[in-house]
Amino acid sequence: MDVELNTTWVEIDLGAIRSNIQQMNQFTNTAVMAVVKANAYGHGLVEVAKAAQQAQSPWLGVARVEEGVLLREAGVTGRILVLGYTAPEQVRLAAAQGIDLTVYDPDVVKAYVSQLSDGDRLNVQAKVDVGMGRLGVFPQDAQGFVEFLRGQPRINLAGIFTHFPTADEPARNLTLPQFARFERVLEQLEARQIRPPLAHAANSAAAINYPETRLDLVRTGIAIYGLHPSPETRLPQGFRP
Ligand SMILES: *Cc1c(COP(=O)(O)O)cnc(C)c1O
Repeated sequence: MDVELNTTWVEIDLGAIRSNIQQMNQFTNTAVMAVVKANAYGHGLVEVAKAAQQAQSPWLGVARVEEGVLLREAGVTGRILVLGYTAPEQVRLAAAQGIDLTVYDPDVVKAYVSQLSDGDRLNVQAKVDVGMGRLGVFPQDAQGFVEFLRGQPRINLAGIFTHFPTADEPARNLTLPQFARFERVLEQLEARQIRPPLAHAANSAAAINYPETRLDLVRTGIAIYGLHPSPETRLPQGFRP
């Protein structure tokens, strides 16, 4: 292609992205997962992931395992979690590349196990649905699911998480009861000493609006691109688009 013919382009300020991640880390006093799904919200998957690593973000969140593989091929070494569904055919690749998968269905997990060889170790994180209605086991099934996962060979349960549908809206009467459901699950697991090492819930809006939801990790997408989560949920001072 003749570059001379391109008269429009997008310039991404990776310094702003690094700075926003540091801002989020300081504002929440919590480790940040930089969510880089969908080509880093259009900003460039690999470039943003590398900027996130430079900003000491220990985790990257992607929607699909292919995005995680692209990151590994580009030399990205941090921890990666696939937030969406992964087909059983892809789990050997995920295990080989050290990419964590989201799980919420025992039959799918059994299919994963059958794809893996004895030497493989697959990191998984259990998803709980507290009201989003997308992916996850219901809170009343969470303890049984965790026990099931702990009994599976070649599977390492690295974390447990949930996702809020409306944390960017002003009404607090949905998110806080939803978070209470997740907390109850964590308490049950703690009482049985089977809480996974990592528990997380907050997206950008929850990380800002609901400090109690920050737990071990905040999964922030929109905020690290310097955009307000919604008209009602504004970024704190200091974030840059
Ligand atoms: C996209 C996504 C996020 C990031 O959400 P933002 O509102 O952009 O911060 C966090 N968690 C999950 C599960 C997601 O799918």
